[in-house]
Amino acid sequence: MANLSPSVVNQPRSGIRRIMELSQTISNVLHLEVGEPLFHTPAHIVEAACLALNQGATKYTPNAGIMPLREAIAKKASKDLNIKILSDNVLVGVGGVQVINSAIRVCCEPGDEVLIPDPSWPNYQMMAVIANVRPVSYSLKFENNYQPDFDELEKLTSKRTRLIIVNSPSNPLGVVFSDKTMQEFVDFSKRHNIRLLSDEAYEKLVFDSKHVSPLPMDPDRQVISAYTFSKTYAMTGFRVGYAITDVQTIEQMKKIQEAYVSSVPGAMQMAAVSALEGPQDCVAQMRSVYEKHRRLAADILDNHNIKFFLPNGAFYMWIYANVKDSTQFAEKLVIENRVAVAPGSTFGKNGEGYIRISLASEKEVVQEGVKRLAQVIASQKT
Ligand code: PLP
Repeated sequence: MANLSPSVVNQPRSGIRRIMELSQTISNVLHLEVGEPLFHTPAHIVEAACLALNQGATKYTPNAGIMPLREAIAKKASKDLNIKILSDNVLVGVGGVQVINSAIRVCCEPGDEVLIPDPSWPNYQMMAVIANVRPVSYSLKFENNYQPDFDELEKLTSKRTRLIIVNSPSNPLGVVFSDKTMQEFVDFSKRHNIRLLSDEAYEKLVFDSKHVSPLPMDPDRQVISAYTFSKTYAMTGFRVGYAITDVQTIEQMKKIQEAYVSSVPGAMQMAAVSALEGPQDCVAQMRSVYEKHRRLAADILDNHNIKFFLPNGAFYMWIYANVKDSTQFAEKLVIENRVAVAPGSTFGKNGEGYIRISLASEKEVVQEGVKRLAQVIASQKT
């Protein structure tokens, strides 16, 4: 294509979007492909946004976010992590996606390298490539329980490596890293003098253990942790996320904010304040529904002898489809069985042969969708 940036033009289209678009041409599809909570945003959060708009929150806001939100985040993070986080350590952005992009931009020059888990959320790779930063994949494998291999990471590190991305709880795997593993990531990043970007979008969605953030393991705040209101409070459309790191890095990220988005809508930030300061039982209620759906899906898959990874966090299930081409499999499944799933290859080379389903759909959809999926996988077993 003439006069367009090759790093954008050469980006493959999202495999999940392709399935979504295909499914829109077919009636009565059971949707398990999208990573979005089934719940409405809690009413008190919506009301806070409406009130803020009515009271005049209709203007630009400061690059790093409004002070009441930065302070509420600092208070929440200090309590959760048992360390002192100040509002100056906080930058509010347009969803987790935008603060992650800012973190990549602030750490990397074109030609630098970023270590990205494979499989992982496809946006990391896309953001790196569009910034002309080279994504270097490190493997997470079923046979290792999706734990990192630090010997492999050593080999993948070069003079151009500037950043390693860690995602726990993980999309698409649902793996949750322990204190020990997180400490190893921090030690690794310090040994090589590279920054660690910890994507903690699903921090509040952990089932059997606890969420571990690397922030307290790094007194210099060289870790950049990224969070979002999207998943915890079912606020995907509000587009509010935030980063926590050292003050100097936040100062530089403010410039990126100015260049790309200027600021996050003020009313959405006020809604985020109300999410943090309001009742938290909605979070536990949503988590318990995802956990029930996890059990439901696991039982159906077990009954069909299908290999899958039992997630300990987030709201996805990673299932072995026993196929060579997961995109073709997902397309056929939506056309012939009316079940939409995300093809594993979208999440990286190691994802080929797998598919991801979302547990954040209605119970009946999960039940019937997983049943149809399991029957198809079981029927093609050799
Ligand atoms: N990180 C991960 C791993 C995600 O799966 C997502 C969304 O799907 C995000 C970050 C960002 O979400 P948002 O931009 O809605 O905050």
